[in-house]
Formats: sequence, structure tokens, C-alpha cells
Amino acid sequence: MGVALKRAGYEFTIFDGADGFGGTWRHNTYPGAACDVPSHLYSFSFALNPRWSKTYATQPEILAYLEGVARHHGLDEHLRAGTRVGSAAWSDERQSWTVTTASGSVETFDVIVTAVGMLDIPNIPHIPGIERFRGRVFHSSRWDHSRSVTGERVGSIGTGASAIQYVPAIARDVLSLTVFQRTPIWVSPRFDEPFTDEQMRTFTDQPEQMQALRDYIWQQYEDASFDAGDEQTRKATELARSYLHRKVHDPDLRAKLTPAYPVGCKRPLLSRDWFPTLTAPHVRLVTVGVSEYTEAGLLTADGEEHELDTVIYGTGFTAADYLSSLSITGTAGRTLHDEWSDGAEAYLGTTVSGYPNLFTLYGPNTNGVNSILYIHEAQVRYVMSALDLLAESGARSIDVKAQVQADYNQRLQDAMHGTVWLANCNNYYRHPSGKVVTQLPYSGGEFARRTQRVDPADYDLT
Ligand code: NAP
Repeated sequence: MGVALKRAGYEFTIFDGADGFGGTWRHNTYPGAACDVPSHLYSFSFALNPRWSKTYATQPEILAYLEGVARHHGLDEHLRAGTRVGSAAWSDERQSWTVTTASGSVETFDVIVTAVGMLDIPNIPHIPGIERFRGRVFHSSRWDHSRSVTGERVGSIGTGASAIQYVPAIARDVLSLTVFQRTPIWVSPRFDEPFTDEQMRTFTDQPEQMQALRDYIWQQYEDASFDAGDEQTRKATELARSYLHRKVHDPDLRAKLTPAYPVGCKRPLLSRDWFPTLTAPHVRLVTVGVSEYTEAGLLTADGEEHELDTVIYGTGFTAADYLSSLSITGTAGRTLHDEWSDGAEAYLGTTVSGYPNLFTLYGPNTNGVNSILYIHEAQVRYVMSALDLLAESGARSIDVKAQVQADYNQRLQDAMHGTVWLANCNNYYRHPSGKVVTQLPYSGGEFARRTQRVDPADYDLT
């Protein structure tokens, strides 16, 4: 967004609570953190990188890439680091937004764009007795690097995308590792190969080769099916089942690790280390629920006490609570928190009726089908098209028509029927109301086509 605004010559400020660029790739520094979308696709189309070290780059390399792109495009001078935004309020009278930071400073803007994502607020489980626990506790996205886990008795709660990366990464160092699993997940092997110097030279000298690789990966994502009844879903589930059978021979452990839902209902995971780690002698998978903390560790519902020095929450994020860290007030005093109490919705994930000149990158129903950076770039083009329309028309504000938004969401929720996301599992894609608020039921290419430019007929211009 910053690059596009800079190119178009806008005045803008980027607020970030952290001390630099990178967002999730700045916060998630847990051991083993990496992206499981191949890096040649998990990068910006305008900043392809011939020097990705391997198929799936690790967090330090991705953070350095993001900081490098920001620096190259002169975004540092626009960054207000260490500055959390608390609220934003629209003034009907002035036709502008007032932004108040957490420290109380107030500024006015014509347009605001949120880019806080949906994986920003850690989901912290409420386990009674935490005050009496003598060990330490932290969330995977706020890793405590002040003390190593080497030689410790570690407990880890959760078995999602984060845990399956850090659990194997710390296993070799710890004295013992207890993995508390509530629901098993499907895991397929991840083929992660380093790029040779020769390949990097080819990508540098012949960028069309790098583009071809990117296009090939993109197409694989486009061809993926999210239909629960599809042959592709059945095959993917059977492949994951046979991988589990090959890697885990103990029938009890295998049964505990076997999900009862199709691949895709929860985010599909890739790892060649997860199953071998769980079969190591000092690693134990516990499937009985955690009931409370004791002074020495965690008590499970069967009355067993697990003595631990460190407890790590791999418990994910409050993903379905869009923009919950911001208080946003639109026209006539309406608030997003109230309006989204039954689950967030927007038009094309990007604009919300009653909130003129507000754009939501990684907004409702934009997740899950292709590299998220591809989706973000499509959204950015759409925002720039809205700004062009404002400039051309001489209007001060642009607000999506309520009926346009309602029709879009009706069709979108209709398209959810029969998808894997509504199959028999619990996942973070759904709001407690049952509505799928995070996932996009169309392909990335379809989303990019729909967001190519703003249709003035969809909007009220004032
Ligand atoms: P997650 O996928 O939401 O997994 C959270 C885990 O914690 C689940 O196993 C969940 O169990 C468990 N859990 C939650 N609350 C619990 C409680 N109160 N008691 C016991 N268990 C509890 O979170 P995540 O692993 O942090 O991943 C979140 C998302 O971040 C991913 O889906 C992905 O989009 C992104 N991510 C991406 C990468 C990457 O490689 N690109 C890596 C890491 C994360 P249930 O299944 O029973 O709810």
C-alpha cells in the first residue's frame, strides 16, 4: 500500500505499534518460523527476489526481504513506529477521519487503510490457577528469548501451523516436551530444497525463469479445490492418512493423531519433522484436556500433574474478530464493533458501507485460497482505483452502497455451502455465529478480476 501511494505521489503516514516494518514476520520469531507458501510466490510481484535461499524461506529471511522492499521504496520516512492506533472516527461534517493513537495524539486524514491483518491478537486460553504457577508462560507469537528452553521441561498447548514448526525446532534441546493436543490435524510432507548458486544466477540473469516458477506455483494454488465432496479433497485426505501411517507405527499414537474431518477443514499443514518428533522418547502427546495450573505445572482432566518449567501457547489468534484492536466509528456514530457483532463483512473484503474512505486490507473473506500477498496486491489496486475515482470526480468521500455489500455477502455465503471449511471440524474461520468470516470462496484470480477497478455504480460519491 505504501509503495502504491508513494508512486502515485500521495502524502501518507504508516502507523505501526512495532518498532519497524514486517508485521507478523516481526512478531513471530519462534524457533523454526517459516512460511509454508513457497517464497517465489510469497513475495511482491513488483519485487521478485532471485536470491531466496530455499523453497520455504524462514522468518529472518522474510523479515529482511520486507524491510528491504520498504527501504528500497523510501517508506521508512513515512513510518511512525512504536505508535499504536486506538481509534478512528469519521466526521460527516468534515468528511474526514480523526485518528487517535494509544498515547492520545490526534490527527486527521482524508482516507484510512487498515492493514492489521487477522492474525495479530494472540488467543490466550483461560486456564485457572495461572497465578500459582512458578514457571513461565508465553505465546508463540511473543516468544521469550530472554531465557533458552535448553534443558527445560516444556509443555506446548495447541497443534496448529505455529506449533508444528516450533515443537520440532525445540525438541532436540529440551529435557522433555509435552504436547497438549485438543484436535488432531492433517499433515503432509514438506519438500523444502535450497536453491543452488547456479539457480540464483539464472533467476538474476533471466528473470522470466523466476516469473515462470512463480506462475507455476500460483497455478497450483488456483487449481486447489475447497469443495468437501471433491475427488481432490478425498485424495488429499487419503494421501495425508497414508503419510501418517508410514511415519507413526504405534497404533495408539496413530489413532490420537488421526483427524475425523477432510483435509482443508483446518488449514492444511506441511512438515516432515512433526511426526518423527512426536515419536521421540522424551516427547509425549497428551490428548486429555488441560484443567488447571498447579505450582509445578499443568493438571489434566484425568488428574495427572505434568511438571513443567515453561508452557508455550501455540493457541493461535482471535482471527474471526476483525479489527478488534481498533475502535472505528463511521457515519452517524455507528461502530464497526456493533455492526460486526454477528461476524464481520465487507464488500470485496475491502470497503464497508457506512464507513466512507475506509479500506480494509486483509479484510473479511479474503483469506485462504492463494498467497495472501497476491490478494493484498489486488486489494491495493482496488484502493488506488477508488482514490483515482475520488480525484477524478472531485468528491470528498466514497461509500459502498449497503445493498451492493449485502448482495455480495449473500452470494459469498451461498458459495460457502459444501466447502471444506464447513465440514465437521472446529476452525478459526468461523465467527461464533457460525458464519465463515475469514475465507474467500473464490479463486485468487477471480478475486483479482473482481477488484481490478472500482465500479462507480457500486458507490455513493459525496
Ligand atoms: P491455529 O492454527 O489457530 O492453532 C491453534 C491451536 O491451538 C489448535 O490446535 C487449537 O485446537 C489449539 N487451541 C486453541 N485454544 C486452545 C485451548 N483453549 N486449549 C487447548 N488447545 C487450544 O494457530 P497457529 O498455529 O498459530 O496458526 C494460525 C495461523 O497463522 C495459521 O492458520 C496460518 O494462517 C498462520 N501461520 C502460517 C504459517 C506459515 O507457514 N505460513 C505458520 C504459522 C502460522 P483446536 O484445533 O481444537 O481449536
